[in-house]
Amino acid sequence: MSLIREKDGKRLHVKSRLMGESLVSRKLASTMETAPQVRLFPDVNVLKIGGQSISDRGAKALPPILKEIVANKDSHKMLLTTGGGTRSRHIYTIGLEMGMPTGVVAKFGSAVSEQNALLIATLLAPWGGILIDSADIVKLWSYFEQGCIPVCPGMPPYDYFSFPPAQGRIPLHRTDVGTALLAHLIGARSCIFVKDEKGLYTDDPKKNPEAEFIADITVDELTGLDLDDLIIERPCLEILANSEVLDVIQIIDGTVEGNITRALRGEHVGTFIRKG
Ligand code: ADP
Ligand code: MG
Repeated sequence: MSLIREKDGKRLHVKSRLMGESLVSRKLASTMETAPQVRLFPDVNVLKIGGQSISDRGAKALPPILKEIVANKDSHKMLLTTGGGTRSRHIYTIGLEMGMPTGVVAKFGSAVSEQNALLIATLLAPWGGILIDSADIVKLWSYFEQGCIPVCPGMPPYDYFSFPPAQGRIPLHRTDVGTALLAHLIGARSCIFVKDEKGLYTDDPKKNPEAEFIADITVDELTGLDLDDLIIERPCLEILANSEVLDVIQIIDGTVEGNITRALRGEHVGTFIRKG
């Protein structure tokens, strides 16, 4: 390793391709030689158990979904993530009314997705359910070796460091984003959002009966439609578009028995949003 003194004698560098760079240059980013991203856990399926859409339905929705997950445990490795749902929306409303910054609002959201992760991990405990957090992701191999079903809160750990959105102060990066980021991080086999609608529609089907179902769409096509409302948080589309390892995000109705199993088998149930 060679040390290089700048000509004016001021800075001492360790020789590397990034030596002396600001790391902001567009030209540098486009010319930098980079090895393909390693897929850390390419046989793991990431499944988000919706907060508002699933967990908040309690005994009406969770038992059959958890039963289906357990039934698939021996044939598929699954990392579960959890949404926040109604309790997040409640504390977000109060926080926003009281002038809380985005970072505090995001902390509220993290606390609620942790509650739901604890609930689901506890319910799954007899079958290997185990509560983990994002720092445990590199230990996934050991969890699966021991027959665990790891459950991680879906909120990405930006917390106080959350980006201020262009409008309002609701954090942009919530539990759908955390789920997509985790799937990207580990180079997952699949990224499946378990919610309460068949998949993506042209509008919220709960509010607009005319909304049409979309079975298959690319990120570009979806962005081009410029829909007012979506079934997943918008930054998920950018994550998919920029990912080297994710090709598709799938959204399914977990309240229909068999959908989780079909999705885990790679079947086209619900909506496929494709990278391109
Ligand atoms: P989760 O609890 O899994 O985060 P959300 O309730 O936040 O789920 O988001 C899912 C809901 O999004 C659906 O139940 C549906 O009512 C609503 N939604 C909004 N826009 C759309 C759309 N374009 N297509 C389908 N569902 C939509
Ligand atoms: Mg949501």
